[in-house]
Amino acid sequence: MEIRYKEFFEHGQDFLDMVSAELNISPARMYFNTDRSLNACARRINDYFLVEINAGAIPGLIGIIQDLPYKFNRPGLSKYRSMPGMQGAPWLYMVQFLLRYFLYHETGHLVTYSDKTEFNKVEFANGSELVNAPTGHLREMDADWFSAVHLGKYIMNLFNAIGGIAKVGKDDLADVIALMMSTAMLYYIDRNNFGPDLYFAAHSHPHPNVRVTYFLYFLISVMCDEVLGGVDETAITNKMYTLTGQLISAERIDTLTKFNRIRTVHSHEIVAYIKKMMKNIQEVPELCVNRFGGQWEYPLIN
Ligand SMILES: [Zn+2]
Repeated sequence: MEIRYKEFFEHGQDFLDMVSAELNISPARMYFNTDRSLNACARRINDYFLVEINAGAIPGLIGIIQDLPYKFNRPGLSKYRSMPGMQGAPWLYMVQFLLRYFLYHETGHLVTYSDKTEFNKVEFANGSELVNAPTGHLREMDADWFSAVHLGKYIMNLFNAIGGIAKVGKDDLADVIALMMSTAMLYYIDRNNFGPDLYFAAHSHPHPNVRVTYFLYFLISVMCDEVLGGVDETAITNKMYTLTGQLISAERIDTLTKFNRIRTVHSHEIVAYIKKMMKNIQEVPELCVNRFGGQWEYPLIN
């Protein structure tokens, strides 16, 4: 376990060292605290920009996909055990993906709040519910978008390191993208396990079903626009759904069923809410997308 903390810490600090000057969040540091719950926060103290991740994040994320290792021995899934660009077992790669999702999301918040001399943005703080929901949701979507862009780059870096499209082929990259999308889906399903069925303008974060809808859209758009031109996005999405059904843990099957039912019954309202948020981005000029407007635009959902 210790080695995973070390690996992730080194990656996180390298990432911040690389981007902090350009993003105006310098000096930036990443560290683990000793809290055992699954959470993270972005803060600025004494002029340092800090990404603080709970020590409980790693076992928490491993727990979400805890019974995956044996599933990759099954027919149809065994190919993921040796996917190009993946280092180590697929379930470890999935945990790394989710930790990076946390890191990049919190970095997005650092950018958004960078004009403030001091702040402390805890993701799931007690008492943060129902506070300033509409603007808060925009900030969360912006941080998720920032995260999706950097996760896309992360996947591409791994892929390019072994020769890229010319060497590996689009089909294998599409498989990797489907697995990463499925990882995000498993995470959001888990977050919805004890939560309300669906809501829109309420609570500190958008509902997991809303978040997964725009997050997967951002991720697949980043990947497909840049690399997979001509590849059928619907086919990758369908593959993601199949994988999620195969990989879900036994105790989350009911949550998956509920999650999918909400997505089916309320898809129009979910997309309408996301479109409304996208329209309102000018209300919060400090969002990442506004600071880097023209360079990083939100993809539009049809
Ligand atoms: Zn957040």
